[in-house]
Amino acid sequence: TTAVTVIGAGLAGSEAAWQVAQAGVPVTLYEMRPVKNTPAHQTENFAELVCSNSLRGNNLTNAVGVLKEEMRRLDSIIITSADKTAVPAGGALAVDRDTFSQEITDRIKNHPLITVKNEEITAIPEGIVIIATGPLTSEALADQIKEFNGSDGFYFYDAAAPIVDKATIDMDKVYLKSRYNKGEAAYLNCPMTEEEFKAFYEALISAEVAPLKSFEKEKFFEGCMPIEVMAKRGIKTMLFGPLKPVGLEDPKTGKRPYAVIQLRQDNAAASLYNLVGFQTHLKWGEQKRVFQMIPGLENAEFVRYGVMHRNSFMNSPELLKPTYQAQKREDLFFAGQMTGVEGYVESAASGLLAGMNAARLAKGEEPVVFPRETTLGSMAYYITHAEGKHFQPMNANFGLFPELPERIRDKKERYEAIADRALTTLAKVTEEMNLVEQTK
Ligand code: FAD
Repeated sequence: TTAVTVIGAGLAGSEAAWQVAQAGVPVTLYEMRPVKNTPAHQTENFAELVCSNSLRGNNLTNAVGVLKEEMRRLDSIIITSADKTAVPAGGALAVDRDTFSQEITDRIKNHPLITVKNEEITAIPEGIVIIATGPLTSEALADQIKEFNGSDGFYFYDAAAPIVDKATIDMDKVYLKSRYNKGEAAYLNCPMTEEEFKAFYEALISAEVAPLKSFEKEKFFEGCMPIEVMAKRGIKTMLFGPLKPVGLEDPKTGKRPYAVIQLRQDNAAASLYNLVGFQTHLKWGEQKRVFQMIPGLENAEFVRYGVMHRNSFMNSPELLKPTYQAQKREDLFFAGQMTGVEGYVESAASGLLAGMNAARLAKGEEPVVFPRETTLGSMAYYITHAEGKHFQPMNANFGLFPELPERIRDKKERYEAIADRALTTLAKVTEEMNLVEQTK
C-alpha cells in the first residue's frame, strides 16, 4: 500500500496518524517542534493542550460528550488517552496535561507503522497527505496553503487563561464544590459580594491590554473570548458567563454569592489551578493587579499568565468535501482547527475522519461520508455546507443534527434521543464499513 504523510502532531494530526496506522497503512508524521516552536506550545510533546486542560462535557446529554463516545468506539487515541489521564472535573473530562500528551507521544512513537520526523514542512507534498498544522501553522506553510486555496485563508485572535499555584490561594476564603453538586466536588470557588464584584468589574474594563499586532482581521470565537472583552459588553454579562453564581451556594453560609469565579484543577497533583473562562490579553502586570482582587487570590502566585495568539482557519464551505478532502485534489486532506471545527475534541474528531479516509484511499477503497445523524458527520456537514461568506468555526452542538422524526418537548429527553440515534447510526455505518467496533 501507498504510505500517508501527516503534517503536524497536534490534536488532529496525532489522531489522524493513529487512525491511518491502525488501518494497516504506513505513516510518516512530521512535527516541527522542538526545531521550530509556535507562540503557544510549551513542550515538544504531541497533542499538547495550549490553553484549558478540559476536553469539556463527558455526558450524553451534551453534544461534545456524544462526540467523545463516538470517538471512543472508533479507537480514538486522543479520547482513550484522556480517559486514562483524567483529573476530577465534575461532569467534564479534564486531564493532567503533561501525562496526557506524554501518553499520546509514547503510543505514537511506539507504533510500528508510524515514522516520526521533527521537521518544518514548507511546501505541500505530493501523494496522500493530511495537513493538520493547526491555528498556529508556520508562516511558510500558511503561505503555501493560501496559495493552494486562493485568497480564502484568514486570521483572528485567540486567548489563554492564567494559572495559579494552589499553595498561594487563601483557602479560608474559597470553597470546594461543583455546580449543583454534580459529580464529585471539583472546583475551588471564589465568592464575591456585590461591592467586590463592582470594584472588580471597574478595574477589569479599565485595565491596560497588550498591544495587538496588525493582522488582516480581528475576530474572537465566542467559546474563548477574552474576559475583558466580555466585561466590556455590559456589567451583567460576566454574571451570565464565567461568574455565574447559580448552583454554587457557599456551604459556610448556605447563601448564593453575588458572583463566583471558579478555579479548575490543572494538573494531576492538584497543585495548579486555572481561572475558568479568564483567557485574556491584559498586560501581565495588569493581570496580577486585577486578578488579585478576586477573594482568595490576594496573594496568589501566577505560574502562567493569560496570553493572546493568532488563529487561522480556511473557508471550508468553498474548499473541502465532508470527507475532509480538498475539492481540488482528492489525495489532499485537511484536519483540525484550520478546517473551521472548533475545540480540542472537535479538532481530534476531524483528524479521525481524515485519517480513516486517507487510509481507505491508500487501500483503494472509497472514502466514507458519515451521516449527519452522527456528531462526526454533523460537523463535517456543517463546515462544508455553511454559508461561505460568514463562515465561523463551530463547536459540536445539538443544533447541527437533523431534526428527530417526532417532537420531544423535554430538553433532556430530546438530547438523549439524539444521542441514542447518533450511536445507533454509528454502529450501522461501522458495520457497513466492516470496521470492528472497539468493545469498552
Ligand atoms: P494543534 O494542536 O496546534 O497542532 C498543530 C501542530 O502542527 C503543532 O504541533 C505545530 O507545532 C505543528 N506545525 C505547525 N506548522 C507546522 C509545519 N509547517 N510543519 C510541521 N509541523 C507544523 N480549544 C479548546 O477546546 N479549549 C481551549 O481552551 C482552547 N484554547 C486555545 C488557545 C489558543 C491560544 C489557541 C491558539 C487555540 C485554542 N483552542 C482551544 C482551539 C483548538 O482546539 C486548539 O488550537 C487545538 O490544539 C487545535 O488542534 P489542531 O490539531 O488543529 O492544532
